[in-house]
Amino acid sequence: MSAKCQKADIRWRLAHAVAHCATNATQIYNEELLMRAAAHLLAVLIVAAADCAVAQEKHLIDPTPPGSLKPEPLPPLQNPDAPSTPAKELFARKSTPFPGPPRSIGGYFDGCLAGAVSLPITGPNWQVMRLSRNRNWGNPQLVRFIERFAENAKKVGWNGLLVGDMSQPRGGPMLSEHRSHQIGLDVDIWFTPMPDHVQSREEREFGSATEVVAPDQLDVDPEVWTHTHAELIRTAAQDPVVTRILVNAAIKKALCREAGADRAWLFKVRPWYGHAEHFHVQIACPAGIAECKSQPPPLPSDGCGQELDFWFKDSTLHPPPTKPKPALTLAGMPPACKQIVKAP
Ligand SMILES: [Zn+2]
Repeated sequence: MSAKCQKADIRWRLAHAVAHCATNATQIYNEELLMRAAAHLLAVLIVAAADCAVAQEKHLIDPTPPGSLKPEPLPPLQNPDAPSTPAKELFARKSTPFPGPPRSIGGYFDGCLAGAVSLPITGPNWQVMRLSRNRNWGNPQLVRFIERFAENAKKVGWNGLLVGDMSQPRGGPMLSEHRSHQIGLDVDIWFTPMPDHVQSREEREFGSATEVVAPDQLDVDPEVWTHTHAELIRTAAQDPVVTRILVNAAIKKALCREAGADRAWLFKVRPWYGHAEHFHVQIACPAGIAECKSQPPPLPSDGCGQELDFWFKDSTLHPPPTKPKPALTLAGMPPACKQIVKAP
């Protein structure tokens, strides 16, 4: 996820508004100034469109594909020290955490993790899925949050959490799916409730996640969606460490409808592409950790009503294919991440 498209959308609207003003002002201001302003606006619009296009591509990605019961280790890299080596190739080859105190370093989209701890694969109220990915690592604060959330979710009638991706042992970018999840402060939770038995490795690897969005993507699927799903998301949003939750826009629409009078938590739940079979929870940087780069909080409005219109436009629901962004390299990450990923 990111706030990027929301920002892009805001930039887009802003640019539209300014462009409109600029057109009205033709008689007043000299032409050259207007031309320059128009060129700048065009650049802003192109950046906004490009940001959204990248994000739209994510909509097509299934974040819960099955893995393997016997995952093969990745082959060694030919030239791991080349500056052009994608950082994801380096971080994906680390199967153990960097020792020492917990440190979430850099931003959710360009950072890494030291002193990670793993979430036990089976807890009283949760089970980790897709074990072959080895992505059940996080800052200890994230692990504490999941334990607490699982217990609170039980109180609102959710049988237990199926936990998807957290972070890799040393955080950083991943070979598949995510751009965030890099500093041990993000977790994906499935919309499928935990079964009553402890699942085998096979079940965790090959079981499929339930989509709660209708095929036309305009609303939740009434056959699958229950009020307990809404209660589950509300419970996560009301935890004080949670800063942002990403769900499909159809789910946000349902939450807006079902929230009732207590709507103070809704601002944390933001619409995003995909997220029809899991939701993404982001927690805040631990207090007093200067090297952890916070994201600006979501806008304080509940995000319901007209704010959702963008997400149900045909061009948003069915975006054209776009080129992927160039891969992140170590040069684009905090210097400490190099030391962390290069250590044995
Ligand atoms: Zn996620």
